[in-house]
Amino acid sequence: MPEGDVPEVDVTAESVTALAHPVTGQLFESPAPPGTGWPGDPATALTPVARTAKQVERLAGRARSLAELDAAMSVCRACPRLVKWRETVATEGKRASFVDQPYWGRPGPGFGDPEPAVLVIGLAPAANGTNRTGRMFTGDRSGDWIYAALHRAGFASQSTSSHSGDGQTLTGARIVAAVRCAPPANKPTPTERDTCGHWLDRDLALTAPGLRSMLALGAFGWDATLASARRLGWQVPRPKPRFTHGAEVTLVTSGGRPIRLLGSYHVSQQNTFTGKLTEAMLDKVLARL
Ligand code: SF4
Repeated sequence: MPEGDVPEVDVTAESVTALAHPVTGQLFESPAPPGTGWPGDPATALTPVARTAKQVERLAGRARSLAELDAAMSVCRACPRLVKWRETVATEGKRASFVDQPYWGRPGPGFGDPEPAVLVIGLAPAANGTNRTGRMFTGDRSGDWIYAALHRAGFASQSTSSHSGDGQTLTGARIVAAVRCAPPANKPTPTERDTCGHWLDRDLALTAPGLRSMLALGAFGWDATLASARRLGWQVPRPKPRFTHGAEVTLVTSGGRPIRLLGSYHVSQQNTFTGKLTEAMLDKVLARL
């Protein structure tokens, strides 16, 4: 299915077929219902669901831990276009090579250390990556790049991240995205970015006490992180620091804590295939985190 179109789909019982999870073998419908045993699923059937931007703001604001935040975020339905897209891909829009797998089909929860020193902020999940596997940056070429680099830098336990349940863990780092649902053509709208920004705000607020640095992958993640820091009342230099590969700026939290923000070209295929971003370039930035 070409990205950019959102076909009409009736996600009825007939179009939902339980398939075996590629790691655990457990049967799942697509999208995976919360609390049914998908590896790493932070939610339960009772997790409250946000259906509007206001509800996102309220639920994010009252999350007392990253676990609570991830749970609420992973069942969010506040952006109608993205909910429709992620569930359409998860049902009748699967990539042919994954047609025998169940798709997560929900927002990608943050992944990694519950008390991170480093926060990595990407753009948004991929339709057949995170939207399939349920783990941020997992199951596509971009993920292969970032997890391999995180492994070389000592943050990741494995050099690959193929699927939730594969044993991958992060120590000292957490990966999130500026927008948590897979968007058509990788392009969230400004409204979707702003709505999802409430989850990012809370991610920054909850991790800030232990954070040393943040890594924004691409200009979208850079801008979203700066905007979030401003909303939280952190000191952000003016004029807005420009994104470049290797850029660095120090932000100061409302509690007076300095946190460095670094930028790297996004690990998207259009950067890694063309050589705009090399492993050496990425390693050099990660070594500064
Ligand atoms: S993009 Fe964010 S705010 Fe919108 S539905 Fe997904 S998780 Fe919710």
